[in-house]
Order: sequence, then C-alpha cells, then structure tokens
Amino acid sequence: MTPQEALSPAAAPESSTKAALWEELQRAIRSRMKPEQFETWFRRAALASIDGDVLRIAVQNTFSRDWLRTYYSEVLAESAREVLREPRRVEVLVDPELLLAAAPAQAVAGQIMPGQIARGPLAAQPAPAGADRGLAREAHALGTSRATESPRGLLSTSDVGLNPKYTFENFVVGPCNRFAHAAALGSAEAPGKAYNPFFLHGSVGLGKTHLLQSLCWAILDRAPRARILYLSCETFVNHFINSLENGDIAKFRNKYRNVDVLVVDDIHLLANKERTQEEFFHTFNTLYQSGKQIVLSSDSPPKDIPSLQERLVSRFRWGLVTEVEPPCFETRMAILKRKSRERGRELTDEIASLLAERIDSNIRELEGAVTKLLGFAGVSGLPISPDLAREALRELFHSRRGQPSMEDILTLVTEHFGVKLSDLQSKKRTNAIAYPRQVAMYLARQITRHSLEEIGGFFGGRDHSTVIYAVEKIQQLHEQDPATRALLDGFLGRLQAPRG
Ligand code: ADP
Ligand code: MG
Repeated sequence: MTPQEALSPAAAPESSTKAALWEELQRAIRSRMKPEQFETWFRRAALASIDGDVLRIAVQNTFSRDWLRTYYSEVLAESAREVLREPRRVEVLVDPELLLAAAPAQAVAGQIMPGQIARGPLAAQPAPAGADRGLAREAHALGTSRATESPRGLLSTSDVGLNPKYTFENFVVGPCNRFAHAAALGSAEAPGKAYNPFFLHGSVGLGKTHLLQSLCWAILDRAPRARILYLSCETFVNHFINSLENGDIAKFRNKYRNVDVLVVDDIHLLANKERTQEEFFHTFNTLYQSGKQIVLSSDSPPKDIPSLQERLVSRFRWGLVTEVEPPCFETRMAILKRKSRERGRELTDEIASLLAERIDSNIRELEGAVTKLLGFAGVSGLPISPDLAREALRELFHSRRGQPSMEDILTLVTEHFGVKLSDLQSKKRTNAIAYPRQVAMYLARQITRHSLEEIGGFFGGRDHSTVIYAVEKIQQLHEQDPATRALLDGFLGRLQAPRG
C-alpha cells in the first residue's frame, strides 16, 4: 500500500495509515540531513494529523517546535511533497503527551517521577503554582533540599545551594545571549533529550553560572525530585583526588553516576588534569549512555581548553555548543535597570545610559555599579542624579588607576610577546612561553587583588607554589637586569595609566 492509498478514507484504520505515512516521511526527512540531526529533532516527533492539505507534525516542547519552524520547514515541505507527490502545508505543534511514548528507561521523566508519569511527563508539565515553587527554592537555596522528606532533588553533594536569584525570570535576554538562553530553556524542558551535552561558553561575568542554575531551577520546578548534581569543576577535581587518596573511588563513582542531571560549572578547569579528565570521561559516558542530561560551562569552546583530551573535546561537541557574548548597549541598559528595580529603585534612562557607556563587557561589573550607586544614594539621602552617579562611581568617570583586571594583564602580555592565551595556560615550559607566563603572574601579583591560588587558576590551574616561584624569579630579574626592569616598568605604567 502506498502512503497515498493509506490515506484514502476507505483505507485501513486511521492509526496504521498514519503510522505508515509517518514512516515514509521520516525516511524522506532522514535523507535530507545528518543522522545526528535526525536523532535530535525527528526521532521522537510524530505525525499528529493530516487533513485537507495541512500536515501536522507534533514535537515535545515549544523549543523543538520553534527550532523546526525556523530551520526545518523547507525540509518538511520537501519531504511531504516527495512522499505525497503534491505540495502540502506543514505545521509543527507541541504535543506534551509525546514523551509518554518515549522509552521509559531513557526517559528522565520515568526515573524522576514514577508516580506522576501518567499525568504528564517532566518536559511537559507547567510550573507548579508559585507557593510550592517558592518553598522548593528556599529549601534548595538553603542547601537543605528537604532531604528528610525527599531523598531526591538537588543533591546534597552539590557544592553550593542554588542561588534563588539565578532564575530564567531574572535573566535579561538580548542578542548576545538569546541563543544560549533558549538552549538552556530547551534543555530544562527536555533533560537528556533536547541537547546532550549542553555546553555553554563565554568570558567571565557574562551569565554562565546564572543560566546553569536557572536550568536547574526550571527542572526542579517541574520535577522537584529530579536528582540534580550541580557543582564547580574544582569540586569534582577535589572529590576525585580525595577519593583516590582515601581509596573510596567506588563511592565516588556511585555518587556521580547515579544522577539524572549533572551540571559542572567551569569545566575548563579540567585543563592539564590528566587523571581527572580520564575519570570525567567515564562519568560522561555512563550518564550519556543512560540518557541523563549533562550540562557544562567553560570560559572557552571545547577545542581551546588547554590539553583537553581529544575524546572529551569531541564528546563535548556531541550536543549543543553555544556561546554567551558580551552584552550590547541596549542589553546593558536593560540589565542596569533590572538590577536596580530588583533592589527597589528605578534608574532613569539617562543614568542607565551613563553607566552602560562606561561598563561595556562584564555583567558582574554592571551589577556592582548599581549596588554601589544605590548604596551611595541611600547613605547620602540624595536622589539619583547624573552628578551623584559621577560621584559614586568616580573610578568609572575619571581614571581607573590601580585596578586593572587580570584580562588587561593577559591582553598586554600576550600582545607584547606574541603568544596565545592558551599557551600561557598550557603545560608548555619552553622559555618562549614560560617567561611571558611568569611575567604575567608577577604583574597580577603586583596590581590585582587576586590570591596566589586565583592567579594560578588563570594559568591553567597551577598551584600557588608555582606562582610564588614565578613572582620571585621575575622580582629578582627586575632588580638585576635593566632590560627586564624597563619592560616591567613599561607594563606597570601602561596598566595603571588612567583610561577612558
Ligand atoms: P559567569 O558564570 O559567566 O562568570 P555569572 O553567571 O556569575 O557569570 O554572572 C555574573 C553576574 O551577572 C551574576 O550576578 C548574574 O546574575 C548577572 N548576570 C549575568 N548575565 C545576566 C543577564 N543576562 N541578566 C541578568 N543578570 C545577569
Ligand atoms: Mg561562573
């Protein structure tokens, strides 16, 4: 029977005709894309209905629907034309019930809320009413996670309670982060399904941690018992090393491999950590193979993480890799106003733009400026005027003497020596790399407030003794070698010169 016959009114019962047509359509769709694209977007889709000249395809969540509409409408139209031999209009709609049809062993929903699966899957549930949700948030934020009542939920082994402010509602969306935001929402709607792994990268202070935690909150809102392990990469490394030392590696594995969602913030700290990378590789595989969601953030894309094993690089790219970029002017304005409103004061456009013009990269700094300005206004009892802003944030308006950032130092040093940041962070010890690295550490020690550990962290996770050694060595050269002295003084002068 051809699909057309199958669709004639006199043909077999509706379900089997639909099934046959859907099979044909899937074949046509599959032939138009890479297997992994098909797996991601069409494996779990279904043919909802066909009436008149409209063919309706159902997917599990709004994110998939929007994605298909944007990127696959042509493929769908062509496939329909090929199979039905005449053009049809193809519509994509959301059918939350679809998840029920997914294999239970794979479905996160099945494991998280066995009692509730008949009511509706994890991905499809509307968020519960505010009160419940507030309570859950409070408990999780306090790190208590109501552990005695429910053994599930944000796991107590997560290294921090989630910040109740880091939610999607409080996240300002702009062109710089629209895609990352949508993808985080998508992952939260269909953990283990939409994108696995979900890999988010971008410079410091651009909202990666905020998005990761929003994703956790959104999953917990729908499924308060979802077993989420949220932690920084550093904690993973420390747990691993401790368990090696204590000989309880089995316990370690048990903990990390028995979760529904594993979220590791700042995964770039795996750089140069061979054995932890090895362990993470196995953790990743175990979770991935059982359809568990993996979410990672990093300050650089997978391939730029120094000495990250190739097999991890390739796995990190299996799902979706997306970037948060520095916010544009309008987004900075919106963030300033939002942060101020959250603190109970409104900023006028004039004030917001005054600040947005001067803080142009880091959202954490925007937040800091608002806090400072409101604090200043509160203490002085004066209304927030441009003059007050200039007074409160003097360093933004006049010079920024004395407070250059680590980024300034790295930019200066990499430019001067013609080396790459990833080289400074790599294990390479050739003089051409080691010397600039030591100079950068020295400068960081001289003019930033970072601790030795933090400075080591910027250079591929080196420990504090390496930093001390570098600082002392360069200090010595500064005293003994006029050329080095001239170079360093030049650097210091430039870093501390008034800017903007
Ligand atoms: P990262 O992890 O990328 O270094 P964070 O997530 O810690 O950055 O963000 C730094 C601060 O800026 C946080 O307080 C966060 O709430 C805030 N922030 C970042 N992006 C946004 C955004 N788009 N909307 C609102 N606040 C944001
Ligand atoms: Mg962060």
